[in-house]
Formats: sequence, C-alpha cells, structure tokens
Amino acid sequence: MADLMSKIISLCKRRGFIFPGSEIYGGLANAWDYGPLGVELKNNIKKIWWRDYVQSREDIKGLDAAILMNPKVWKASGHLKGFTDPLVECKNCHKRFRADHLVEKYKKSARFDEHGVITPEELKDIGEAVKKIKCPECGGELTEPRQFNLMFKTFMGPVEDEGSLVYLRPETAQGIFVDFETVKESSRLKIPFGIAQIGKSFRNEITPGNFTFRTREFEQMEIEYFIKPETAKKWHEYWLKERFNWYLKYGIKKDNLRLRAHKKEELAHYAAACSDVEYNFPFGWSELEGIANRQDYDLKQHMRESSKDFQCVDEETGKKFIPYVIEPSGGVDRAALAFLCSAYEEVKGGRTTTTEAVKETEVVLRLSKELAPIKAAVLPLVKNKLELVKKAKEVFELLKPHFMCQYDEVGSIGRRYRRQDEIGTIAAITVDFDTLKDDTVTIRDRDTMKQERVKIKDLIKIVKEKLNV
Ligand code: ATP
Repeated sequence: MADLMSKIISLCKRRGFIFPGSEIYGGLANAWDYGPLGVELKNNIKKIWWRDYVQSREDIKGLDAAILMNPKVWKASGHLKGFTDPLVECKNCHKRFRADHLVEKYKKSARFDEHGVITPEELKDIGEAVKKIKCPECGGELTEPRQFNLMFKTFMGPVEDEGSLVYLRPETAQGIFVDFETVKESSRLKIPFGIAQIGKSFRNEITPGNFTFRTREFEQMEIEYFIKPETAKKWHEYWLKERFNWYLKYGIKKDNLRLRAHKKEELAHYAAACSDVEYNFPFGWSELEGIANRQDYDLKQHMRESSKDFQCVDEETGKKFIPYVIEPSGGVDRAALAFLCSAYEEVKGGRTTTTEAVKETEVVLRLSKELAPIKAAVLPLVKNKLELVKKAKEVFELLKPHFMCQYDEVGSIGRRYRRQDEIGTIAAITVDFDTLKDDTVTIRDRDTMKQERVKIKDLIKIVKEKLNV
C-alpha cells in the first residue's frame, strides 16, 4: 500500500498535479504546490461542494471572511488557551513529535500487546505513557510532553510588539460565528439555516506528513448549520449521511469509506457528539472530515466576549434561545488526495486488447466527470500535416470556451491517449484525414475506450452530454 502512495506522489509530480513548494530552494517542510492539473482538481472539488450546498439550497448562504481576525476572536473561541497538541522532544537528536501520535503508534505495535509495557491507566495520561517510549528516530530519551499552541503568529502593521500580534486562522469556522448575526439579518434567514465557507487555514502542526494529508497550510470547506437545540440529534444524523454520500457520489469507493463515531474521551470539550468520515488511504484509515455537534458553545462564547446578543426567537413558543450548531468540516486537500487515491488504477499489460504486443503497465485516473481536470483533449492524428493541425486547432478553439481542454500533438496517437488516461481526461477527440473530407472527428471515452465518429458541429452538445452538464 505504501507503494501506491509513492506511485501517486510520483504521478502528481510528473504530470503537474502536486509537487513540493519552493523546490528550487530545497522545499519548505511539507509545503506543497498545486500545479496546472492540481489546481483544476481542487477548484472542481470546491465548485461541486459550493454548488451542492450554497447554490442549490435556500437554507445555506456563503461567506468569505478575512483570514486575519481580531485576536479577541481566538480568546473567545478558546483557541488561545486550548488549541494545543502535546509535544515531546528527543533529548539526543532534538527531533520533535506529537506525544499522542507516538503513544498511538506504540500501542499498535507488538511490543505493547506482548509485554503490555503501557498500562491502560497510563494510556489515559499521555505524559505517563510517553515515559515508556524512546525516540523513534535515534532511540534517545524524550522530554516530558508540553502543550504546544498550533496557531501561527504574525504582526500587523509596522511595530512588532504584543499589541500588534495577530494569528493566522486555524479554522474557517470562527469567521462564520462572528458574522452570524450580520449574515442572518442581511439574508433574512430563519433557523434552521447554514453558513458555508471555503478558505485557507493554518496550523503549526508538530509533525506534518503523508504527502498533503497533514500540512501547515491547507484549505477547509466548512458549514455551520444553526438549529434549535432539541433538533440537534436529527440534524447531526442528517449531515453524517449527507456528507458520507457526497464522497461516494463523486467517486470514493464505498469499501474505502467509513463513519467513525468519536468515543467520549476523544470529544472536544464543546462537542456533544462527533463522527469522522474516514478514508482508507494507502497509509491507513484517516480523517477526511469531522461532523460535530458543537452545541451553543461558540455563539455563547462570542456573546460573552463581545456583549452582542445572538439569541433567536422560537416562532412557536416566543421564547429566546441560542442556536445549536452542527458542523461538517472537511479539508479540500484531504478530499483531493482521497479522490486521487480512489481514481488511480493500473492496468497490467496495457489497456488495448486489439494488439498482440506486450505492453507496460498503464495508468487510468478514473476521476468523476465533475472532478477530472481536463474534460476534452484535442489531438491531430499526426503533426506533420498542416491541414490536420489547422483543423485540430479550430476544434480546440471551438471547445475551449465551454470546457477545460488540452491540445496535444506530440508523440504517437496511442501514447497521447495514454497520457490523457493518466490524467483522467474524459474525452479524447481525434482529428484525422476523414475530418478534412466530412467534418467529423472521433471521440474516445476514457472508461470504455470506445470511439465514435461524430460531426464537429455536434461536438459541444455531445461533450456536454458526456459530462451531464
Ligand atoms: P486531525 O485529527 O487529522 O489533526 P482535526 O480533527 O484536528 O484533524 P479538524 O479540526 O476537525 O481536524 O478540521 C477539519 C478538517 O480540516 C479535517 O477533517 C481535515 O480534512 C482538515 N485538516 C485539519 N488539519 C489539517 C492539516 N494539518 N492538513 C490538512 N488538512 C487538515
């Protein structure tokens, strides 16, 4: 399975999906750049999420709050005090680790099972448990865990002192809470309603890793869905189902997706319940999205700190109440990685069965129609026939305003089909000698590899049908 991860990382680099950031300077600790295809994939994920939850619904409105917020926000939300992870450092090699992750790994290892080195009582206390563990890098002794705040700090304005200290937001959610009243009033919203936001968040993670799974700069897509307190269970279940099915709808294989309810001791102090949508990544089952019942914690905190009143009136009883909130909070980067892993398929000996020749392994990226970065590729059969190239460029010009297209004339046609399969292109359109006679082209389907001859004048309609748009 680890092998699959390295194949995906290599494909991402080779074809310009994702590669290390600032690479010419040796990179920067797990910062990644999305190249021409990666940015299309990521934009497509954000587009369908926005279409499904903001554009198609009357009860959810969009928001784009500033990344830099008044530091009082983070005092009220509890992030200044509590957004921490337990950090241990090796006294010998000075590498730093997340203590809870080390314990978790250790617990799973045979040493724990066979010798019971860490007792269940000790496990409850990370500090006690970690005493039994040595540095995984050099075997050195580890320090006691200390709480490390994950918020990035910076200074606003020309003076760098305590008074100008601001934080890069570690989640988009707080922007939604502080704008709750303004959005509700300006859009005349009534409970239940939601506010949705997509944007960058920053966390100074102690141990980023697993490609784009855990990074220090990432994008979130979050909805805060405000409800009457007594309906919390019903809405929590609704969003669990909704978000689970959303991943299936756009291509995640069912066997690789599960919902995992948090145990009581795992819950954040403000959450009454939380379940994660988990994907079976090549490195194991891990969180794609968290769906929590945050109760009225955030609105209450901001009411207290800002002295604003966020209460709503129950139209049936006339009583005031502070709404509860259900929060589906997903990561765009983790979704992109899961969709890539799910779509990656190798065909040993090649895809075509029409020739006898033994071929190498070929890759097809079976991304859904909505997610594929390139919808249509336009390919002249050969590049040394001027009329063919001219015609192919005309077809490209025709399609370009409607779909994300690629024009490719380099290499044999078979090789070009393979290149397109590898990046998940839905349709490959070939301009050949018959095109010059009758204005028809062939259109090859990525999944079935079937080729159809169609008229150029019908192409836009046909590609639209293929894409269901
Ligand atoms: P984890 O337990 O993996 O650290 P979390 O429970 O802290 O994640 P949340 O605070 O629930 O994460 O954030 C919501 C979503 O944001 C996550 O499900 C994930 O998709 C994404 N996310 C959080 N932290 C990171 C990160 N460091 N890198 C990439 N995506 C992230």
